Amino acid sequence: MARPKQFKAESKKLLDMMINSIYTHKEIFLRELISNASDAIDKLYFTSLTNSDVNLNREDFKITISADKENRTLTISDNGIGMSREELEENLGTIAHSGSFNFKNENDKQNDIDIIGQFGVGFYSAFMVAKKVTVETLKFGEKEAYMWQSTGTEGYTVEPCDRTEVGTTITLYLKDNTDDEHYDDYLLPFEISSIVKKYSDFIRYPIVMDWSSRRLKEGSENEYEDIVEPRTLNSMVPLWKKDKKDISKEEYNSFYRDQFADYSEPLKEIHYKVEGSATYNALLYIPKKAPYGYYNKDFEKGLQLYSSGVLIMDKCSDLLPDHFSFVKGLVDSEDLSLNISREMLQHDRQLKVIATNIEKKVKNELIKLQKDDRKGYEEFFEAFGMGIKFGIYNSFGANRELLQDLLMFTSSNEKQMVTLGEYLDRMPEMQENIYYANGETADKIDMLPQVETAKKHGYEILYLTDGVSEFVLQMLGSYKDKKFVNVSGADFDISTESEKQALAQLNDDSRDMLEEMKSSLGDKVHSVRFTSRLSSHPVCLASEGGLSVEMEKVLNSVPDGNKVKAQLVLEINKDHDIAAKLKDLYETDKDTLSKYTNVLYSAARLIEGLPVENPTELSAILCDMMLGK
Ligand code: ADP
Repeated sequence: MARPKQFKAESKKLLDMMINSIYTHKEIFLRELISNASDAIDKLYFTSLTNSDVNLNREDFKITISADKENRTLTISDNGIGMSREELEENLGTIAHSGSFNFKNENDKQNDIDIIGQFGVGFYSAFMVAKKVTVETLKFGEKEAYMWQSTGTEGYTVEPCDRTEVGTTITLYLKDNTDDEHYDDYLLPFEISSIVKKYSDFIRYPIVMDWSSRRLKEGSENEYEDIVEPRTLNSMVPLWKKDKKDISKEEYNSFYRDQFADYSEPLKEIHYKVEGSATYNALLYIPKKAPYGYYNKDFEKGLQLYSSGVLIMDKCSDLLPDHFSFVKGLVDSEDLSLNISREMLQHDRQLKVIATNIEKKVKNELIKLQKDDRKGYEEFFEAFGMGIKFGIYNSFGANRELLQDLLMFTSSNEKQMVTLGEYLDRMPEMQENIYYANGETADKIDMLPQVETAKKHGYEILYLTDGVSEFVLQMLGSYKDKKFVNVSGADFDISTESEKQALAQLNDDSRDMLEEMKSSLGDKVHSVRFTSRLSSHPVCLASEGGLSVEMEKVLNSVPDGNKVKAQLVLEINKDHDIAAKLKDLYETDKDTLSKYTNVLYSAARLIEGLPVENPTELSAILCDMMLGK
C-alpha cells in the first residue's frame, strides 16, 4: 500500500476535532454526506441538460444507503458527477472553505461544538462515527476510478480501483461501541430513516434503502414471509413548498445555514407564496451580519432560482435590486422553463414581475421588523444600512419612496436610533425643519457649539457620522415637506424677526472691523460675521451654499477626485466677551486683532474636526499671547 499522505494543516485540526468529538448530535454526519451526494447529482444533472453522453434521466438519479450489520459498515452511494484523482486530493485532503473556518482557540471544546453545530463541516464529520472511511469514485467522462482511504490520524491514500459506474460510494467503518456511544444504532434501518427524515427530507432526489418487512404470503391466511424491498426515506417536498405552520424555526434556520453557508442564524425568514400574474414560492432570509466582502464591488448578489423544484440558477442577480443585495434565499416558479438561458432570463417578463414583487415584500417586511423587533431592526441597519443609503444616493432619489422609511439615524435624544417618521411624529408643532449635524462620532457632535444651541431650543438633531448620510439627505431634500437643515449651515437660523433685524444691524455697524478680520484670514474664509446662534461658545464655522464642511472632507478624500472647497464663514458669538474684546482691539491694536482672528479661526476648525492649516504659526501666536507680547 502506498504511504499515506498527510492532511493539510487546517484539515488536520478539523479532523482531530471530529475524531475526538464529544458533540451530542453526531448523527449530522449523515446529513452532510447526503448533501454532498445531492450536490454531486445536481452537477451531473446539469451536465445532462446539454451533454447527451449522460444517459440518465432525471428520475434515474438517487442516493442509496445500505447497512452491513456483520461488518459494521454504513454505505452512502450516489450516481452523481464523481471525482477525479486530483479532485479527491483537493477536496478531501484540504478544507475547501478554509476562509470561513477560523479556529480561535484550539483547546476550547465549547468552541468546537459551536463550529460543528452551526456550520456545515462536511465530509470530515464522518470521522465522528467512523474509524475508517473509504471513498470510491468514478468521475463522469473519465476512465479510471479511484479509492480514497483514511483512518483519520494517519493521513490518507488514493489508489486506482475497479469501478465502472459514474458516481461515488462512501463507506464508513463504524467506531467500536463504548459505554456512552452505541455506534451500532447507525446500522438500524429505523434509526437511519428517522435521521434522514429529520435533516434531509427535502433533498430533491430519492434517498433509498432496502427495507425488510414481514407480510402475509400471497394466497395464504396465516403464513408470513420476509420481504426486502427498496424504500424511499425522504418526502422530497422542498421546505419552501411545505405549509408554513408545519415548519419549525429550527428547520428554517438550519436550512438557511446549509444552503447559504452562513455560520449565524438569520435575523428573519420571509416565506410566502404568490398566485396571479406570476406564480411562485419564495423563501427569503435577512442575515444578521454582512457577509465577508459584502461592501466590495465584486460581491455577487442573487437568489437561487428553481423551476418547479429544480434548481436552474444558483445566483440569479436579476431578482434583487442592489439596495437589497443582502437578501438570501430562493424563488421557485412554475412559470419558468427548465432550460431557460441566462440571456433569455434577463428579458423574461415573469422574472421582472417577480423581482418587483420581491422588492416590495422585502421592504414591507423590514418595516414590520422595525415596528415589531426594534433591536433586530437596529442590528439589521447596522449591518446593511449603508446599502440602503447608497440605494437612495445612487438612484438620485428615485428610490426615495421605497427606501426613506428604512433609514435610521442616531438622535440627539440620548443617542438612540430614530427613523425619519419617528422624528416627525415627536417634533414640536412649531418646528419647521429636520435638523442634523455632522461629525466623527456622536460624542463629538454633541460638543459642537451649534448643536448646543439647537438643543437648547428643544430641537432633536440627527447625528450623521459616516460621510454618506449628508449626501443622502441632500438627495432627499426633504421628508414629508420638512426640509433637512444642517445646524452648521447658514440656513440654520432660529431667531425671531426682531432678533434677526438687530443682528443685521450689528453686522452692518461692525462692517469695517469684520472686513479687517476677513482680510487677515485671506481666502480661507468667505466672510466673518457676528451670530446670535451660539450659546456659550465664542466661535464656530458655518458654511454657505450647498456644500458643507463635512461634504468637503468626504469629497476631498476621494483619490483623484477634483478638490472642492466649502464656502466657510467664521461666526463670532455676539454675546460673548470676546466680541467686545475684538471691537476694542480694532480701535487700539490691529496687529493683535489679526493674531486673535487667526487663533479663533483655528479653534473653529478644530471644533469642526478639520486640521489646522498652519499649526506652527498657531503655537507661535499662542506663546506670544501667554508671554503678553
Ligand atoms: P463542502 O461540501 O462544504 O464543500 P465537504 O468537505 O463536505 O465540503 O466536501 C468537499 C468537496 O468534496 C465538495 O465540495 C465536493 O466537491 C467534493 N465531494 C464530497 N462528496 C462528494 C460526492 N459524493 N461526490 C462528488 N464530490 C463530492
